[in-house]
Amino acid sequence: MTDRVAVVGAGQMGNGIAHVFAQSGFDVVMIDVSQDALDKGRATVAKNIERQVKKGTIPPEEQVKILSRIDLNMDLEAAGEASLIIEAASEDSGLKYRIFTDLDRIAKADAVLATNTSSISITEIGRRTSRPDKVIGMHFMNPVPVMKLVEIIRGLATSDKTTKYVTDIAQRLGKTAVEVNDYPGFVSNRVLMPMINEAVYCLMEGVGAPEAIDQVMTLGMNHPMGPLALADLIGLDTCLAILQVLQDGLGDPKYRPCPLLKKYVAAGWLGRKSGRGFYTYTK
Ligand code: NAD
Repeated sequence: MTDRVAVVGAGQMGNGIAHVFAQSGFDVVMIDVSQDALDKGRATVAKNIERQVKKGTIPPEEQVKILSRIDLNMDLEAAGEASLIIEAASEDSGLKYRIFTDLDRIAKADAVLATNTSSISITEIGRRTSRPDKVIGMHFMNPVPVMKLVEIIRGLATSDKTTKYVTDIAQRLGKTAVEVNDYPGFVSNRVLMPMINEAVYCLMEGVGAPEAIDQVMTLGMNHPMGPLALADLIGLDTCLAILQVLQDGLGDPKYRPCPLLKKYVAAGWLGRKSGRGFYTYTK
C-alpha cells in the first residue's frame, strides 16, 4: 500500500491530482518551481473541497484533514520519500525529460514514476531513467476531482507489475482505469484534439462565431461542453503542444495546428488560466 505520493507541478492538473490523493487518505507533497503556483494550487484545493462539503459529498470534518495531508515544497528532492511520483508539469518534452532524469536519482529504488502527460511518449520519458519498467502514464482528466477516467499508458518497457500497481491505485481513488498503448496523443487526445483543432479552423474561416460552433456541438451532438470552451479549459498552450506532438509523431499534415490557435498562444491568450482565450473570463 502506497501512502506517500509526490505530485510534481501544482497547476490545474497537479492540484487536482493532489486533491484526489489526499481525499483518499494519502499523504501528498506537491512540488512546483513557483511559490505562487503552490499557493494558488493549495487555495484551489481548499475551494474545491469546500464546494464538495456544501454539496454533501464529503463530511465537514474531513475538510481540514484533507488539506492537512498536502505539503508544499519548491525542491524536487522532497519527492525522495514517495513510493509513487506523478509528474504534472507543463507539456514540454525537454522539461519532462529533465524532471525524470532528476527523479530517477532522487526517488527510492522501487518507486514508480508516473507522468500525467497528454501526449508525450512514455517510452521516450522512460528512456531518460534507469528504470523504464517503472515509468508509466497516468493521465487524469480535467477537472480531476470530477472526472472518472484515468487513461493508463504503457511505454514499451513498462512492466505488468507497474501497470497493475497504478491501476489498483486509480481504483483506490474511485476512478476507472483504462489501459492503452504508447502512441502520440494515446487515445484521448488522438481523438479529441483534431476535433478542437477543426473547431478553431471553423472560427478562423468565419464558418461560425465561438458560441455558434460550441452550440452546434453541445445541442446537436450532446457534448457537455463545446470544443472551444473545452480548449479554454484545457489551456490553449497545452492544446498547441499536444497537436505539435501529434503532427511530429504521426507525420500526417491533418494534425497541423490551426494558425489561429498559434496566434492566440503567441498573444498569451491561453484560455481560462490567463483570463482570455476564445472567451473572456472574469474571476
Ligand atoms: P499548468 O500550466 O496549469 O501547470 C503547470 C505547472 O508546472 C505550473 O504550475 C509550473 O510552474 C509547473 N512547472 C513548470 N516547470 C516545473 C518544474 N521543473 N518542476 C515543477 N513544476 C514545474 O498545466 P496543466 O494544465 O496543469 O498541465 C500539466 C500537465 O498535465 C501537462 O503535461 C498537460 O499536458 C497534462 N494534462 C493537462 C490537462 C488539461 O486539461 N489541462 C488534462 C490532462 C493532462
